[in-house]
Amino acid sequence: MTRAVYWYYMQSKVALKTSLFIVALVLGISTLSGTFLTLKARSDLEKDTAAQRDEIAKLDQTLERLEREKAYDTAAQEAKKVAKAIEKKQKEEAAAEAARKVAGSVNVPTSSTTAACSKPNTHSDPTRIDVIVNKKHCIQPLTFTPNTLIISCAGGDSAVIATTAVDDFKALCAAAKAAGVPLGITSSYRSYQTQVSTYNYWVGQGGQIAADRYSARPGYSEHQTGLSVDFSSGSSSLDSFTGTAQQRWMAKNAHAYGWVQRYTTANSATTGYNAESWHYRYIGRSAAANYHTSGASSLEGFWSISGGDY
Ligand SMILES: [Zn+2]
Repeated sequence: MTRAVYWYYMQSKVALKTSLFIVALVLGISTLSGTFLTLKARSDLEKDTAAQRDEIAKLDQTLERLEREKAYDTAAQEAKKVAKAIEKKQKEEAAAEAARKVAGSVNVPTSSTTAACSKPNTHSDPTRIDVIVNKKHCIQPLTFTPNTLIISCAGGDSAVIATTAVDDFKALCAAAKAAGVPLGITSSYRSYQTQVSTYNYWVGQGGQIAADRYSARPGYSEHQTGLSVDFSSGSSSLDSFTGTAQQRWMAKNAHAYGWVQRYTTANSATTGYNAESWHYRYIGRSAAANYHTSGASSLEGFWSISGGDY
């Protein structure tokens, strides 16, 4: 081998080694960076998963908190309802107690006046919606109990209503609510026994003559039929109902749903009661429509039944 050839051979060997070294280096680096990237991706993914888990845990906590709050609200509302019911019951008991106190000194008219009021007529069936109950015509039998249901007036106050009047009571309440004048309820069905307490209470307050002007004797109350309701505006009831938006709406629209104002200024001589803007009586849609167009001023006049005082 000549020197030149040997030199060339050595140069090539070095170049080859260097090339191999570079190739090995490049391969090594790329493998390392690949591994590094895989590791990094995995760690990022784990971080993301952990973040998502945190997020879910937080959502769970929020959900639990909302459920707790909702349960608390429901419980609070229930408690309020119970408290209201207790308060109402206590008031009723106080009124009944007051009535019992005066009952001893009051002569509640029963049998003697019952005989005079028990004459059967074409409107004396208390299960029918055309029944007349007034000071000349007591309910027969005196302790009659209608079939009733407890119905909420469009989600508001509840009333005890004769089953025959339930559908149109609901329709009336819904229509009033839709018209922006939701109705409240002061009184609906009253049993004979409740009327004994109510009447005696009023007799105790102002004497029998005064009581007879605005409270029915037991067995003479239209409320005992389950077809009468005393409406309120929610905040205004009885006399203060007059002039409210609810009262004006009722005067204009109640007849379309089968209800009529029973006691007015115009008919107080016939009915024997002072005007009551809040007291409505269910007689059915067709009768109420006829009553409205006939211009009759009282149910007694409309059905030709005697009325007036006891
Ligand atoms: Zn009434």
